[in-house]
Amino acid sequence: MTKKDKTIFSEPCRICGASDWDILYRGPIRLGKFGEYSKADHVVWKCSKCQSGFIARTRLNYELSDYREMVDGCDLPSHFYKLHDKEQADKLKMLGTENIRGKIIADVGCGAGSFLDIIKGLASKTIAVEPTKSFHHELRTKGHVTYSYCENALKE
Ligand SMILES: [Zn+2]
Repeated sequence: MTKKDKTIFSEPCRICGASDWDILYRGPIRLGKFGEYSKADHVVWKCSKCQSGFIARTRLNYELSDYREMVDGCDLPSHFYKLHDKEQADKLKMLGTENIRGKIIADVGCGAGSFLDIIKGLASKTIAVEPTKSFHHELRTKGHVTYSYCENALKE
């Protein structure tokens, strides 16, 4: 990492407040649907204290339906389930039920909550972190504690 890189990213860590960063990754990032990547390279920064990774804030507004429509083609929960429910069995197999049972599980960027839905009976609590507002009512109705961003969930 160059000195220039360090000065470009100077905001404090959104989790722990530290302001010393390393570069975790530099290159294209997924934009929208799986398999679609940015033309420009982006940097994923790693907090030197808590090891969390962040992409510097972009101009995309993740709260608006426009973003969800770009990602999945539609912002309705039912459309999200059609696209993503089938991926969940593989995720559960990879993680293993022993790593979920009795634990508090937060899914950051959970969409309409397909993964949280299948682990609800295993986890002691499920936390949905999803900026797309059009999914919040559905997530809360299913019993997931719902936040727009990680920083909103810090108290809990
Ligand atoms: Zn941190």
